[in-house]
Amino acid sequence: SGSIAPAALTSDHHPSDAWEQDTTTSPRLQVVDEKQDFTNDLPEYMEKWGLAHAGFDYNCVAVFGSQSTGKSTLLNRLFGTTFDVMDETQRRQTTKGIWMSRGRGMRVLVMDVEGTDGRERGEDQDFERKSALFSMATSEVIILNLWEHQVGLYQGANMGLLKTVFEVNLQLFQSQRGKEKTLLFFVIRDHVGSTPLANLSNTLQADLEKIWAGLSKPEGLENCKIQDYFDFMYTGLPHKVLLPEKFETEVDNLRSRFTNPTDPNYVFHSNYHKRIPADGFHVYASGIWEQIMSNKDLDLPTQQELLAQYRCDEIASAASVVFLEAISALKAPVLEKGQIVSDLGSQMAAAREQALKSFDKDASRYHAGVYEKKRLEMLTKLNAQLSVYFVGQLRNLHKQAVLKFQDHVKNELKKPSYNFATVVENATATSEKYFKENAQEIVLQDTDWSYESEFAQLKEDFSELSGKARADEIRKMTKALEKQVENELTEPVSMALNNPSADMWHKILSTYRTAKENGQDTLIKKAKSFNSSDDELEESVNNLVLQSWLLLRRKIDEELADSMLLLKLRSKFEEKFRYDDQGLPKVWKPEDDIDAYFKKARDDTLALIPLFAKIDTSQDDDLAVESTEDFDYQRSLTVLGESKQLDITNRFKRESDAFYLEAKRSIVATTAK
Ligand code: GDP
Ligand code: MG
Repeated sequence: SGSIAPAALTSDHHPSDAWEQDTTTSPRLQVVDEKQDFTNDLPEYMEKWGLAHAGFDYNCVAVFGSQSTGKSTLLNRLFGTTFDVMDETQRRQTTKGIWMSRGRGMRVLVMDVEGTDGRERGEDQDFERKSALFSMATSEVIILNLWEHQVGLYQGANMGLLKTVFEVNLQLFQSQRGKEKTLLFFVIRDHVGSTPLANLSNTLQADLEKIWAGLSKPEGLENCKIQDYFDFMYTGLPHKVLLPEKFETEVDNLRSRFTNPTDPNYVFHSNYHKRIPADGFHVYASGIWEQIMSNKDLDLPTQQELLAQYRCDEIASAASVVFLEAISALKAPVLEKGQIVSDLGSQMAAAREQALKSFDKDASRYHAGVYEKKRLEMLTKLNAQLSVYFVGQLRNLHKQAVLKFQDHVKNELKKPSYNFATVVENATATSEKYFKENAQEIVLQDTDWSYESEFAQLKEDFSELSGKARADEIRKMTKALEKQVENELTEPVSMALNNPSADMWHKILSTYRTAKENGQDTLIKKAKSFNSSDDELEESVNNLVLQSWLLLRRKIDEELADSMLLLKLRSKFEEKFRYDDQGLPKVWKPEDDIDAYFKKARDDTLALIPLFAKIDTSQDDDLAVESTEDFDYQRSLTVLGESKQLDITNRFKRESDAFYLEAKRSIVATTAK
């Protein structure tokens, strides 16, 4: 066996060139064997014959006729095949079944049907009918081979065979009336020539019409004509044994009808083609044979749909394998490492395009409705597989956008001056743009993919993040303002309390007023940069006022803690008792009225306690801070409670007693010298 050289098949060669150049013979295959089993080797032989990928670019011809009428001989001469021919010397039967091969130098599948001559020997015509069905379902041209002397024998075996062919045809093609035809090519063997071909063909044609008229036709097709389904062609061939050279020449001439499209008698017109793509031929043929064997109703449109479904699925899954391979490279970066693949959209589109293209290339030859349905199924499946990557990248983009936002804010807030609202606005705009642009890139056409909800979620994240950042900023600022207030308060409060006087509280409150107002001004100015609402601002201001007040109170408490207070009292007392008007230490003389001095100094000092005890707001009413649940303004005005005052009074009295004794002793000491 040998395969056909591709050069012999190119269409720019003249057909007869191909026949001359291609001297190899194609292997033959018994498609259906004696037990009527269908071969498994057809796909392999389609490859060997070089036709597996021919699409629609091939033709199919079968031969029919009584036993030993030279059918196989004719096919071998005409197509260069090697079908078995009965051995003249032994008159032994050739192997039964359906044989197939390919024409030499032509894209033609040639089918040889070997039956027993059931009719002539009265055997059942089962196989004849089956092979007729099979040939009609696959072949464009049926060669009907008969001896000249059989013409006109209306009751003969040939006519029975033709009746079978017609019946079978009606069964197969009833719904295709006029759309697809089959060519019946009558070859009259051992045509002597005394009766012209025209006469023979007229006789045959008349017989055919008679047979057709006698057929019982399916409902609705009662009036259909034989020409609705068939075209006819007639030719004669000389006696092969008596006129061997003439026979050869005639066969060579005849070949042109099968190979040369410009031949006026060219047989393979496109409307005869059964439209079985070559890559589905084996599936179709074996399916047909299976139907025939199971005696099921066989109609070609259904068979073509079944074939289309089967083949489209096969083609789709082959394309799918390549597709999955192509997109598997995306798995690690997108799904595992969380990376952004910059051209993911075009990569996905390319992989999908390639898969669909490869599907279309083969599948588009099949039944249009099925093909379109399967294509949509495939697209849906491809999209589903790709959507994993879409969703993955979207998630990664979301994360990246959040990081970008955070980085932007962080870096901007590090700068010496910034407007917080602007910082957030810019960060939001930049990150949203980044997300949208990249998300848009991965939304494929013909999908229902959308990034809207992810985008909405992202915006929520941004506003949450900026809310947090703003709260942080406000906290930071408030802290700074409080610090500022505290700084402004510390010195003056301390000074005022160390030099207690009637207007001491007014001085302190004035300082507080200034510090608080400074803080407020700063706050109001800065609040603008946070886009704070009026309510928020009011709340911040109130808070600052309260905090400032509490600071002041803490400062006062610190300054007037027991020991500090006693120190203040003592120093006031000493000032009055131990120093004279010039600020010089007193040296007590015996004539000095120590008791009177002492009493005056102590009373003056003790009088300070009630002054310290309560903040006097009489001149600063407007500073009153609003009370809250945890804070009572009125109560906060009290610095020292009644019992505390009493306690301090007693402690101070005891301390001052020591000074009194010391003064007394100093006199005794002086006088004793
Ligand atoms: P098939 O059974 O129809 O395939 O016939 P075969 O091709 O096996 O041929 C049967 C016999 O007829 C063989 O002995 C051939 O030599 C012989 N034969 C082939 N062609 C012709 C022909 O054109 N005329 C005559 N008379 N005999 C032929
Ligand atoms: Mg034969």
